[in-house]
Amino acid sequence: PAALVTVLFHLGEMATATQSLDQDTFEALGAELGYDLKVVSPEDEDRELLESFDIDLEAEEADDEEHLKARPPVVTVMGHVDHGKTKLLDAIRHTDVVDTEHGGITQHIGAYQVRVDVDGQDRAITFIDTPGHEAFTAMRARGAQVTDIAVLVVAADDGVMPQTVEAINHAQAADVPIVVAVNKIDKEGANPQKIRSQLTEYGLVAEEYGGDVMFVDVSAKQRIGIKELLEAVLLTADAALDLRANPDTDARGVAIEANLDRGRGAVATMLVQRGTLHVGDAVVVGSAHGRVRAMFDEYGKEVPAALPSRPVQVIGLTSVPRAGDSFLVASDDRTARQIADKREAAERAALLAKRRKRVSLEDFDKVLKEGEVDTLNLIIKGDVSGAVEALEDSLLRIDVGDEVQLRIIHRGVGAITQNDVNLATVDNAVIIAFNVRPAERVAELAESEGVEIKYYNVIYAAIDDVEAALKGMLKPIY
Ligand code: GDP
Repeated sequence: PAALVTVLFHLGEMATATQSLDQDTFEALGAELGYDLKVVSPEDEDRELLESFDIDLEAEEADDEEHLKARPPVVTVMGHVDHGKTKLLDAIRHTDVVDTEHGGITQHIGAYQVRVDVDGQDRAITFIDTPGHEAFTAMRARGAQVTDIAVLVVAADDGVMPQTVEAINHAQAADVPIVVAVNKIDKEGANPQKIRSQLTEYGLVAEEYGGDVMFVDVSAKQRIGIKELLEAVLLTADAALDLRANPDTDARGVAIEANLDRGRGAVATMLVQRGTLHVGDAVVVGSAHGRVRAMFDEYGKEVPAALPSRPVQVIGLTSVPRAGDSFLVASDDRTARQIADKREAAERAALLAKRRKRVSLEDFDKVLKEGEVDTLNLIIKGDVSGAVEALEDSLLRIDVGDEVQLRIIHRGVGAITQNDVNLATVDNAVIIAFNVRPAERVAELAESEGVEIKYYNVIYAAIDDVEAALKGMLKPIY
């Protein structure tokens, strides 16, 4: 660090060894030392990766007018806890009058589509089946913009509450138009007008007050006003948004839910955003890949193809993607696998970078002397992707100072595999198993290789153990 500080000093930059530097300074420092430094964002890196396979997302974006066809809006229901989001999604599910032959939507796949008859026109709306702004923001954090319209549920007997305001903020930050469902109007003491005047403070002015936000009084419990709400969603979409996509091209979209099914393997619910997804397509979803073996809709019915705004449950992936991962169709299986593998490698590198809390000259030094730093390597396996991510996030947040480091060298959904054990052997890692177990053969391998597997079914127990292990690695101070 001292030498680098000196070089920087000659460049006219007064820096201390622990200071963060900006991109320009890093590049200047690199040039001075004879290195060509390039700072890339993960997005840039991924774009370059796709371009190397002749996939240019931006070029594809510029679809000709003539190819664009109307697509249904995708809606997320948000609002304060207990204001009736779940109940409302339930009520909407039951209004699907057009498709009675299947006896209603029975499967929870993470999203569903309902059809409404408006002025003799048969229109569709897609609802994300996970209420609340947490899922909405988690997906946005991954760069996935899924929601076109937010339905804000406010209980008429309770009024605007903290999470109501949060939901408004999130929707507005994402530039997503809001339709307000004033719920529980069947209850005594319900005051729907009060909700309207309360919300004007947050910039949501009802149409009847001269604003441009549609308010609909509903009772999710007694299923009152549901059709009016659906109509308001469509009217808002028609007025404020240009929802069109080209259906006649390779599909792209987002995985909104995924899990490992005992019988069917990796199961992912994917929302098509453009193009048409077909059975037999080779797909890449984040760092997962595979071939679409079969697709099912929310009725559990097999479908051969999925158009824009249609959610489908897809089987055939070789691993479980994460919620919010975007997907695209590749020209063939091999390309899909190569893209997925490269992404996995990039993710691993990013993970290594993440554990360095700050980029400073001291870190440069540390990297050089990596061998001197004590590191605890972990592999995390769990039954659902949400748990794996939550565990990973919490573990990376454990702070026991700079002397010891935690490194998550691999994580994934599903049973512990031979590959996991091999990785653990090579990197001297401990396997954290959350609600999963190894096959008998794999357990034997771990035993013979001396790989430790620790089993948990509560997250904080795992965190406590890892924290204790890290503290145990700290050198005693005399
Ligand atoms: P969430 O936390 O926003 O998903 O709220 P829920 O959908 O779980 O509803 C919370 C409670 O309010 C439940 O006990 C529901 O039965 C009740 N509830 C929801 N909608 C209505 C309604 O329109 N009228 C009445 N009276 N109760 C409702």
